[in-house]
Amino acid sequence: SLLFLIIVSSFILAVISWHLAGKSIRPVMESWKRQKEFIADASHELRTPLTVIQTNLDAAMCDNSGTIAENRVWLDNAYSETEVMSKLVGELLMLAKIDSNQVTIGNGNVDLTDLCRRTVDKFAENFKMKDISVEMNLEEGIMISGDELKLTQMLSILTDNAIKYSESPGKYSIRLNSEKNKAILKISDEGVGISDEDLHRIFDRFYRADKARHREEGGTGLGLSIAKWIVENHGGKIKVDSTVDIGTTFTVELPIND
Ligand code: ADP
Repeated sequence: SLLFLIIVSSFILAVISWHLAGKSIRPVMESWKRQKEFIADASHELRTPLTVIQTNLDAAMCDNSGTIAENRVWLDNAYSETEVMSKLVGELLMLAKIDSNQVTIGNGNVDLTDLCRRTVDKFAENFKMKDISVEMNLEEGIMISGDELKLTQMLSILTDNAIKYSESPGKYSIRLNSEKNKAILKISDEGVGISDEDLHRIFDRFYRADKARHREEGGTGLGLSIAKWIVENHGGKIKVDSTVDIGTTFTVELPIND
C-alpha cells in the first residue's frame, strides 16, 4: 500500500506541476509571439520609407538629362521620407522600451492647463498652413501629478492627428475642465472622421484606418498606441467618438491632485 500511495502522490504531483508549467509558460509564449509580430510589422514599416528613399535617389543619380530643379524634386521626396523614418524609429524605440519595462513615469506637479496652451502654441504654424481655426476653452490651473514630457507627447500626438486628418479649412478645439477628482480633456477636429469598423482598432499598434492615404500623411499607426499607454500609466482613460466626414473627438480623463 506504501507503493500505491507513492504512485498516486507522484501522479498527483505530476498533474499539478504540468498544470502550473502550462500556466507559467503561456504568458511567455504569448509575449514571445507578440515580440515576433512586432519585429515583423516594424521591419515591414521600415522597408517602405527605405524603398521610397532608394527609388528617389536612384532617379536623381540616373537622370542625367534632368535639370537641377528636376533633380531637386527627387531629393525633396527622399528627404521627406527620412523624416517619416526618423519619426517611426523614435516611436519604435519608445514602444520597445515600454515592452521591456524601461520607461518610467515621472510624478512631478504638472500644470495641465499650461501644457495644453503650450501645445497649441507649438503647432501654430501647422494650423496656419492648413487654414485651421483654433478654439481654446481651458479651465485655469488644473494640476495633475505626472510626467510633463510624456503628457506633452500625448497632447502633441492628438493635436498632430487632428491637423493631419483635417481638410482645409478646418476647425480644432481643445477643452479642459475639472470634474470632482478628475481632469477632462477634449481634443476635437472637423476632419475626415473614422468609420465604425476602424474605430475600435485605432489604438492598436501599426493600425491605420485608410492605409494608403494615411501613410501619405506621414502616419505610422503608432502614435495613438503610445498616447493610450501614457494616459493609462497616469491612471487615466482615453476614448474616441467620431463620424465620417463630420469629425473626431478624443476624450482623456486624468486623476487630479488633491
Ligand atoms: P498615425 O501615425 O497613422 O496617425 P495613430 O496611431 O496616431 O497613427 O493613428 C492611427 C489611425 O487612426 C490613423 O492612421 C488614422 O487612420 C486614424 N486617426 C487618428 N486620429 C484621427 C483623427 N483625428 N481623425 C481621423 N482619423 C484619425
